[in-house]
Amino acid sequence: MAYSSKLTASFKIKRLRTIYVLYWFLLAYIIVALTYWFMVLNQLNKKMADYKIQELQPDKSTYVQQLQKIEIEKKRKTVQYVSEGATFFLLIVLGAVVVFRAVRRQFRQSQQQQNFMMAITHELKTPIAIAKLNLETLQKHKLSEEQQQQLISNTLQEAGRLNTLCNNLLLASQIEAGDYKLTTEKIDFSELVTESATDFKMRFPKRNINLAADHDIYLTGDRLLLQMAVNNLLDNAIKYSGKEEKIEVHLKKENDQIKLLIKDEGKGIPDDEKNKIFNKFYRVGNLHTKEAKGTGLGLYLTKKIVEQHNGNIIVTNNNPRGSIFEVKL
Ligand code: ADP
Repeated sequence: MAYSSKLTASFKIKRLRTIYVLYWFLLAYIIVALTYWFMVLNQLNKKMADYKIQELQPDKSTYVQQLQKIEIEKKRKTVQYVSEGATFFLLIVLGAVVVFRAVRRQFRQSQQQQNFMMAITHELKTPIAIAKLNLETLQKHKLSEEQQQQLISNTLQEAGRLNTLCNNLLLASQIEAGDYKLTTEKIDFSELVTESATDFKMRFPKRNINLAADHDIYLTGDRLLLQMAVNNLLDNAIKYSGKEEKIEVHLKKENDQIKLLIKDEGKGIPDDEKNKIFNKFYRVGNLHTKEAKGTGLGLYLTKKIVEQHNGNIIVTNNNPRGSIFEVKL
């Protein structure tokens, strides 16, 4: 299925390239035709004026007056052609830009949706396959305590991934349909962040996750959603940085504002991608360069969740490398 999807995608890209070439060719043709039309009309105008001048009788007393009239008429026509030509030109360029942008947006969306479908198939199948294999191994073989623990923790990791994915998918469809109801309750945000970080430490015992959270930071909001947002950010910090690289989680309250920072020392995000990563299905790089698994939904949902809690989220560069996701609530 993945292979046939790739074929369809490359076929679509080729078709789009042909459409682009045709589009630019037609646009160039229209502009050249418009310029040609203007030049011909202008020349005709000049010729008409010359004929009229030739027909004048120089010895007549009204000669100068009529000559002036012809010149004025010639100028008027030239101004008319220039303004009509400029209006047509502007309308054509404006229309071309609108059509071009709409087609490009449509194409990007359909490409991202296709990538998403491929990613989701993979994301759903892989954890199930790994968990099944691990359980079969536990059932069939007599393993040492350490080996058993290794397999169990690996299975738990995969189940966690599947759980996050399902939650993300469900929430995305509910948000799209506009029928997600925010449940508001008083939440100990310090506890929530600490629990998430501890959970990640358990799931990824070899990773260096540092937590520095102030106590007793409370807010009113939806516990499930906030947990999801924090988990998505932590999940990305793990996914997009190397095994040796440190991850830091800071939570503090400054002048009535809650600030959560999740820092990693991974590959970072190029400046021109920093806004785009919050778009639905958006993933940095093309399909072939993306090594990490994902669907492009995590940050889209995280941003929606933060905004629903009257907050905002930004991403900046970490020093010397990596990213800092900053959530203000
Ligand atoms: P996913 O991780 O499922 O692809 P997200 O919406 O969570 O989707 O992230 C969108 C994209 O942003 C990712 O594909 C990745 O390219 C980039 N990204 C997110 N977090 C980080 C990070 N901490 N470091 C580097 N790149 C990141």
